[in-house]
Amino acid sequence: MYDWLIVGAGFAGSVLAERLATERNEKVLIIDKRPHIGGNAYDCHDRSGVLIHRYGPHIFHTNAEAIFAYLSRFTQWRPYEHRVLAQVDGQLLPIPINLDTINRLYGLDLTSEELERWFAERAEPVDEIRTSEDVVVSRVGRELYEKFFRGYTRKQWGVDPSELDKSVTARVPTRTDRDDRYFSDQFQYMPLHGYTAMFERMLDHPNIEIMLETDFRAVRGDIRYRRLIFTGPIDEYFDFRFGALLYRSLQFRHVTLDQEWHQPVAVVNYPMDHAYTRVTEYKHLTGQRHPQTSLTFEYPSDTGDPYYPVPRSENQERFKQYEALARETPDVWFVGRLATYRYYNMDQVVGQALATFRRIEADVPRAPSRSPSLVAVPAAASLQSSS
Ligand code: FAD
Ligand code: UDP
Repeated sequence: MYDWLIVGAGFAGSVLAERLATERNEKVLIIDKRPHIGGNAYDCHDRSGVLIHRYGPHIFHTNAEAIFAYLSRFTQWRPYEHRVLAQVDGQLLPIPINLDTINRLYGLDLTSEELERWFAERAEPVDEIRTSEDVVVSRVGRELYEKFFRGYTRKQWGVDPSELDKSVTARVPTRTDRDDRYFSDQFQYMPLHGYTAMFERMLDHPNIEIMLETDFRAVRGDIRYRRLIFTGPIDEYFDFRFGALLYRSLQFRHVTLDQEWHQPVAVVNYPMDHAYTRVTEYKHLTGQRHPQTSLTFEYPSDTGDPYYPVPRSENQERFKQYEALARETPDVWFVGRLATYRYYNMDQVVGQALATFRRIEADVPRAPSRSPSLVAVPAAASLQSSS
């Protein structure tokens, strides 16, 4: 009998497994249908020995010091600031759009102040910003929207930006200075030895058992557990009772080239041409030195593993029905990007998992055999050190 069954060994499941095992001294079984831990952040060495991310580029960034400090227990870090170029009109230009993007695209020599006026002259007034189109045209006008956002978004999501919630393109800022970093968060790092090594340390605890290639649907009646944490798609958990939620998928084409470098930065976006949205060259992210280089091309798709909840109002309405059902389902916690149907970054999922743990601590008595008087010394010590 396990105190907890956790479905999914990504960030949501692994953080909770670590917290429950370490702080409450409870027995955890964590299962994943994939043959590895780490969820979508999983990385591994490919056949040529280059460290790649199996499910596309993952860059850690956060403004939350507590989340960074928590993960720092399991990894050292490599400082890394992400830079992305977009291929537009035959040039590779900085995205997010900044002063250099505009000056190079149009052969201008504007200052930041002049660029502010330049944007203001082109921005389209929008009464209420609701959609992903509104966000961009109201900031920089229609021409830049069409060059940098419309095509990419249509490929990525399979719908026009005018049919997507504003939160999608609002992820990408517009700048009038020369800052060409993709993110502006305070903490921007890559795990020094990779994500999988970080997950291995997180899950390395005598109270945690891991079962891979194990689908919850196949074993749910066979495993004895007191409580469940589910981090897969919430609609699947409830047998699609209110219909399937839309998740966007990707097909990844991984290639290795017999040359040291392929492109000047880790990610190049293709908003105007090609069926793929972006190409990632991993050595820029990881700092690895290798005579060859490995790349991933991302092809968006309706079918395949669910990667992105699709932020549109009708999907949100359907999710709300599942969420209401989840609230009435005792002893089951739904956590993570798929189970809470939120377009969350890694740090947000870690924050959500840590908050869930605090709720569990407040609401759920410890398993009888693990009452505080029986808590082993190492767990008691870590309780003190984290307080
Ligand atoms: P997941 O990592 O999806 O883990 C869920 C796990 O549950 C999976 O391993 C799955 O196999 C398992 N599972 C599902 N159903 C079952 C079942 N029935 N039985 C058993 N196991 C099951 N975030 C960033 O912060 N920075 C980035 O640069 C970044 N880049 C990204 C790029 C791409 C292409 C994608 C798709 C996402 C990116 N993210 C990024 C987001 C990041 O991947 C997520 O925030 C994070 O990995 C979510 O963790 P999770 O545990 O909620 O879900
Ligand atoms: N986007 C775009 N052009 C770009 C970069 C982003 O249109 O060059 C839009 C697109 O809709 C994308 C969204 O902004 O899905 C969010 O971009 P982000 O890079 O955050 O996507 P993710 O890394 O989550 O796939």
